[in-house]
Amino acid sequence: MTKQERMKIPRQEMPLQDTLIRRGNFEEVSLGLPEDAAVKEAERCLQCKKPKCVEGCPVGVLIPQFIKALREGDINEAVRVMKIKNNLPAVCGRVCPQENQCEGNCILGKTGEPLAIGRLERYIGDYELSRRTCPMVKPHDTGKKVAVVGSGPAGIACAVDLGREGHKVTIFESLHSAGGVLIYGIPEFRLPKPVVHSEIDYAVQCLGIEIKTDHIIGRTVTLDELLGEYDAVFIGTGAGLPNFMKIPGINYSGVMSANEFLTRINLMKAYRFPEYDTPVRIGGRVAVIGAGNVAMDSARCAVRLQKSMGMESGEVHVIYRRSRDEVPARLEEFHHAEEEGIIFDFLTSPVEIFGDINGNVTGIKCIRMKLGDADASGRKKPVPLANSEFTIDVDTVIMALGTSPNPVVFTNNGNLRRTNEGTVVADNETGRTSRERLWAGGDVVTGSATVISAMGAGKRAAADIHRFLMEGM
Ligand SMILES: Cc1cc2nc3c(=O)[nH]c(=O)nc-3n(C[C@H](O)[C@H](O)[C@H](O)COP(=O)(O)OP(=O)(O)OC[C@H]3O[C@@H](n4cnc5c(N)ncnc54)[C@H](O)[C@@H]3O)c2cc1C
Ligand code: SF4
Repeated sequence: MTKQERMKIPRQEMPLQDTLIRRGNFEEVSLGLPEDAAVKEAERCLQCKKPKCVEGCPVGVLIPQFIKALREGDINEAVRVMKIKNNLPAVCGRVCPQENQCEGNCILGKTGEPLAIGRLERYIGDYELSRRTCPMVKPHDTGKKVAVVGSGPAGIACAVDLGREGHKVTIFESLHSAGGVLIYGIPEFRLPKPVVHSEIDYAVQCLGIEIKTDHIIGRTVTLDELLGEYDAVFIGTGAGLPNFMKIPGINYSGVMSANEFLTRINLMKAYRFPEYDTPVRIGGRVAVIGAGNVAMDSARCAVRLQKSMGMESGEVHVIYRRSRDEVPARLEEFHHAEEEGIIFDFLTSPVEIFGDINGNVTGIKCIRMKLGDADASGRKKPVPLANSEFTIDVDTVIMALGTSPNPVVFTNNGNLRRTNEGTVVADNETGRTSRERLWAGGDVVTGSATVISAMGAGKRAAADIHRFLMEGM
């Protein structure tokens, strides 16, 4: 096929669950490319000599190589190539912000639509989950022991890479289930939990990695105690502590953090109450503050809960102080949220929450904003417009305004250096911290970021820990 012929093939669309039906259930929205569409999409790739797509991937997945194998019909080889760099392709194919990473760099995007790399990654990941053709082989034991704290993408990536080198790895996780945000944060309709469990369990079992759940480091055991028992320790505890706005009315009943709301729904299956014993209170008029992935997930869960509770005329607002062009969520999730009927109040910022005499939320007072000059982050700064206050009647307010690291892990930690924001100071390339034999990576270092950046940090730290264990430096 010539280059021109390849460029004429249209980007293959992802089949989706019907918009109206999916508003009433928690089943996956994106259904996955069928085989013929996946191969057709793979045909579009130009197999660039200097593939910019790979430069855009935080873990450097060998993109042209796995696509070549896929279109030649050798899917087992595609899986093998994929797994050299990425042990969780079914997860990453579903949740990575591809438009800012691999696909954002794809050469096809200069004149038309970029290659749907994420959709192909998911296709490969799902194929592997259903067939199990590429087990990881446990190598000879090095006799070295490593403790990994936290079982999110950073911890899992670090543990798996160390396991592949033959070190004995134990993961300590405070919750009763491994996976971090993949399990307790991202909803089922975006990332089905069997996919996460299956992808993690397979990698971990093949390599003999032990996962100790219900272990809170800083309470059950301290970091110092771990350092006494293990040759190296990696901290990948994420950033699970929610931020709240400092506005009047924040303590009314009906105001909650997105963290609490999503954990109840995803980890505790509140949407299947009373079958599962965790209720979540939600009214017919909900306001979600913020417009990142967490806000989109909260709003879309709220719509589904309202439907499942029979609130046909329910309303969910997303209140965001910047404009639609600055929405930080993944593009796909933003579009899906719009399709599902969520109302976006852009250039709007809450100033006060109102409640009734019983302490229940009744409304939220907001002010209109305009965008001014760029701030330190390079984004245009939102500035309030005088005398533009107005009120939206709501009974539930969900705060999705970012998170910081939970400090419990740092109890009795000696002289581990941290920033004023509470994140760990660690070398970007190696993950080394101010304490000997202690590495860190993922959201606990960067603050809330992405799955693949956390995995990248876990992998870089694993490489450095391995060097340290084998060469003592
Ligand atoms: C709702 C939501 C939606 C998101 N959507 C996306 C998305 O679509 N795409 C994307 O790329 N990113 C998304 N993100 C961000 C992404 O999930 C995170 O950047 C990523 O999970 C960070 O990985 P991590 O391993 O550093 O931390 P986490 O995933 O937070 O995992 C940390 C783990 O450490 C455990 N832990 C914490 N303290 C202790 C302790 N003291 N002892 C033992 N264990 C402990 C926690 O229970 C947790 O399991 C989303 C985040 C949220 C909250
Ligand atoms: S940049 Fe795009 S076209 Fe080029 S190799 Fe990567 S995916 Fe293929």
